[in-house]
Amino acid sequence: MESRKLIVIGIDGCATWIVDELLRTYDDLRGFRRLKKDGTMGDLTSVDPPLSAPAWASVYTGVGPGIHGIVDFVYIANDFRLRPYGFVNDRPLPLVWDLLCKAGLKTIVINPPMVYPAYKLDGVLVSGWPGPRLSTYPKRLNELVRKTQYRIDIDDPRTQFQKDARRALRELAQVTRARVNLAIQCMESFADWDFFFIVFTSTDRAQHYAIGRANWQTLLHEIYSEIDRFLLRSFEEIASSNGALVLVSDHGFQPVKKTFLMNSWLFQNGFLAAELCPKHYAFSFWRKVYGPRTSVILDKMNRLFSKDRLGDGYRDVDFDHTIAFAGGSNADTVNVWLSDERFCRPALENRKSNAIGQERMLKHLSSKLMNLKTSDGEVLIRDIRVPAITEKASGVGQAIEPNLVVKANRGYTIDVNVIDPLNSLIAPSVYRHGEHDSTGVLGIYIEGNAISQGTRINSVSSVVDIAPAIMRFFDLPTPSWMSVG
Ligand SMILES: [Zn+2]
Repeated sequence: MESRKLIVIGIDGCATWIVDELLRTYDDLRGFRRLKKDGTMGDLTSVDPPLSAPAWASVYTGVGPGIHGIVDFVYIANDFRLRPYGFVNDRPLPLVWDLLCKAGLKTIVINPPMVYPAYKLDGVLVSGWPGPRLSTYPKRLNELVRKTQYRIDIDDPRTQFQKDARRALRELAQVTRARVNLAIQCMESFADWDFFFIVFTSTDRAQHYAIGRANWQTLLHEIYSEIDRFLLRSFEEIASSNGALVLVSDHGFQPVKKTFLMNSWLFQNGFLAAELCPKHYAFSFWRKVYGPRTSVILDKMNRLFSKDRLGDGYRDVDFDHTIAFAGGSNADTVNVWLSDERFCRPALENRKSNAIGQERMLKHLSSKLMNLKTSDGEVLIRDIRVPAITEKASGVGQAIEPNLVVKANRGYTIDVNVIDPLNSLIAPSVYRHGEHDSTGVLGIYIEGNAISQGTRINSVSSVVDIAPAIMRFFDLPTPSWMSVG
């Protein structure tokens, strides 16, 4: 059987509209242009909520968060504390490259988020975010890693962007350049590979800052140029093997007009209890009076007194008197929990004996949220549903399922970190002008097989369809647990 090479390039947070707009602005992105012209490019649906950790886990496993069990980067345990979910390779589900290796194919995998540490396989593995340190297999790879100055990420992007955004962007471009250099070196040093998978994550960090600003194309150009360099090299690589090139993202991005402070709203409406000090009221008053005009100063001050963040062990929340709270990562969609008997200090009565009461509580909360309007008369919350994550999550038994998943309208993002007694809807912070959304990008180019421009790849519409499509490419059977599309 002839050996066909498949290269999958992951770009964290990339979307069709972002590629289109960059191609309109810049002539030099020849790789993206070629992929669009000679292949096909369209939308790819993320998981819900559209966060990097669960979405990438779905790309590798071919199943949704309800089955792989990772719904966020952190989960909430019954003591109300946030804990990291752990890594997808700790779970019983095999990853798509494990299946390929089992079938005798050689793989190179660079920076898959949520995979740590690197483990033995037939090929190369460089661990990804949020691993505590870099881990590689085989060991002789360390030499290349050092030579190319490869890094997983820049340190604390949020603080870096608040200090000096230009510098943070430059550093992110350097991280991307080093990653491309390592990838090319790997391609050449381990020449007989069949499957190549790499994820670029600087795009996500940069887009949280850039998308939503007037000159976002300029701010992102250098990072995308580096990725473009790798695209061009990839076209060369697959030309001789009748191979294929796939571009995939875990979620898309959208500009943010305003941020809905979910826990502030829950506090103001009596669902959440908190012990607030004069500092909270001072900040809150400042936001109310000066609004977005002084958000730079406010952000800087907040950085000095950043203890009012829920992520810091929920220190201000009085859980003994809290009925409902939001937690986890900020996104356009967030999870809300009722403080019921699943927690160690439930404020609500036993769920079984008071099921009707809880049902009524959820309805009351949902209808209040759905009726929220912005000052422009826009609907703030687009959708509320009960999460589908009710199946037994594999691997983590301690995670407590949220009761509601709340999705903001387009242009709005939801923050769960700040408890502000006076405001619940504010202008974006200095750092966050762009936010995740559910529509990412899928690009496909198959050597020697012209796909007419705009062709829809019907069998691949969501991140869970990527792994089965990779199996089909290599004429391997799709395992029964993967989605069949
Ligand atoms: Zn992401």
